[in-house]
Amino acid sequence: MKYGILVLIGLFILSSCQENTKTTPQTIDDSETKAVTKKYQGEEPTTPEATEVYEPVPPKVTQDDNGVPSDAIVLFDGTDLSEWINAADSTAAQWHINDDASMTVKDKSGFIQTKRNFGSMQLHLEWKSPAEIINEGQARANSGVFIQQRYEVQILDNNGNPTYTNGQVGAIYKQSIPLAMASVPTGKWNTYDIIFHAPQFGKSGKVLQPANITVLHNGVLIQDHFEIEGAIKYIGWPKYEIHGKAPIQLQDHRDNSRVSFRNIWVREL
Ligand code: MG
Repeated sequence: MKYGILVLIGLFILSSCQENTKTTPQTIDDSETKAVTKKYQGEEPTTPEATEVYEPVPPKVTQDDNGVPSDAIVLFDGTDLSEWINAADSTAAQWHINDDASMTVKDKSGFIQTKRNFGSMQLHLEWKSPAEIINEGQARANSGVFIQQRYEVQILDNNGNPTYTNGQVGAIYKQSIPLAMASVPTGKWNTYDIIFHAPQFGKSGKVLQPANITVLHNGVLIQDHFEIEGAIKYIGWPKYEIHGKAPIQLQDHRDNSRVSFRNIWVREL
């Protein structure tokens, strides 16, 4: 009798362990099944050649010595600010051009923005906080990339300088905390590689497809296809307003931020 009870307890423990090793399969609602399944309908191929395609052929893209793709629009290569204007009044951009092919925010001269309008894009830029540390928190080397004039990827010197995490370096300002803090030491050059898909609106202004954004900071994934919740707000909730293609802006935070930029290019998607 005693032996039988022990066997039963053993079997129970064994079955519990097996249950714990099972994982729940990830499923989606059948109604959401997309074209990926339709593409592979029909008779099952029986040769490798039957599933090889030769068209379309991707266009050849090469890179120059600075890593700029041959099909990119160069927005700043250190030569001049001819692609940029003052965002407030459309006059010539006043930021400083430096000898090392970079530019630096001119304090209180205002945001600058591209003359061109952009929709979905791949954007590359490099930025640097000044080596000399001035100010604290949000006032230390604060700038930002405002995509379509509305959606900010934060730039900030966060090294030894904590702040609210949805406003730290690499945040989609007040919407999405970055997945990592990937800054190089203060005074060194950072890279941002941003993939942005513009929002889509219906004629009435209804959001049919929110914008989404992926950001690599020095090659580290910090925003992973984040669905943007509306134009960023310093005070208030984010809200969408219907808009089309729009300029890229760089922020003058008006507190002697002295952030520098170089090697800015964009590929339209
Ligand atoms: Mg900012």
